[in-house]
Amino acid sequence: MSDSASKLALRISRRLSQHAFRNLLPLEAEAGVVSFTFDDAPASACEAGAHALEHNGVRGTFYVAGGLTGGMEEGKPCHSREHLQTLLANGHELGCHSYSHIRCDNLSADALEAELDRNAAFLAELGVDIAALNFAYPFGAYAYNAKRICSRRFRSSRVTGGGMHEHVADLNALKTHRLYDLPVDAENYETLLERTARSKGWLIVNTHDVETPPSRFGYTPDRLEHAIAAALAAGCKVLPVNAAIDYWESNSKLSSKRN
Ligand SMILES: [Zn+2]
Repeated sequence: MSDSASKLALRISRRLSQHAFRNLLPLEAEAGVVSFTFDDAPASACEAGAHALEHNGVRGTFYVAGGLTGGMEEGKPCHSREHLQTLLANGHELGCHSYSHIRCDNLSADALEAELDRNAAFLAELGVDIAALNFAYPFGAYAYNAKRICSRRFRSSRVTGGGMHEHVADLNALKTHRLYDLPVDAENYETLLERTARSKGWLIVNTHDVETPPSRFGYTPDRLEHAIAAALAAGCKVLPVNAAIDYWESNSKLSSKRN
C-alpha cells in the first residue's frame, strides 16, 4: 500500500473503532474527578510530578513502557526501576504503555499481544496487579484492531486529547486534556475543570516531563502544582485512574446495566 493509502486505511480503522468495543461507564456521583497521568514516566515526572501530587495529598497514574526504563527519551532521563518502586510504595498507580513505546495502530495482532505480554511481565515483577491494569496508547495511536485487543486485556485504555467526559466515558477510549508547555488542545484546562466540577464529570489530563524548562510535551512543577490545587479547590476529587473507575463504579446506580 502507498503511504497515503495506508494513512487513509488507518483513519478509517480508527473511525470504525470509535463505535466498536465500547465499555460505557456511567458518571454519576457526588463530585467530579480529575486524574493526573504521566506518559512514559520521565525521571522528572517521578520526582517533581509525584511530589506535586503528594504535597496536595493525592496520587497519580504513570504509564510505563518497560523498554524505556533506565534510558533516555527526547534527550531527557527516563525513569529508573527505583523510581517505579518508589511510586508504588507511595501509592501511585503504574499503567501499561506497551513495552517498546511503539505505535499500536498498525501493529499485527501477534506483535501487539507480544508487546503487551512483555510489559505485563515487567509490571507484574514490580508488584503491579495486572488483573486491573490500565493502558495508554503510545502517541495516542489506536485503531480498530488495537482497540479490539486492548479492550479484552485492560480495565481501561486511554487515547490522547479529546477533552473531558460528561455523563459517560468509554473505558476503552478514555480521552485526555494535554497539559503541555505549548497548548495543543482547543480548550484550556481552567474551562474544562470548571465544566468537570459543574457537571460532576471526569477530566483526565496527561503530560510527560515535569521540570523547568519543560519539553514541549511537558509542564513546569509550579504550573502542575497549581493545576492540582485548582482541581481540589473546585470541589473535584483527584484520583489515579484505577481509583477513579472504582469511585464511578461504586457510585453508579446503572453499573449492572453497562453494555
Ligand atoms: Zn508515550
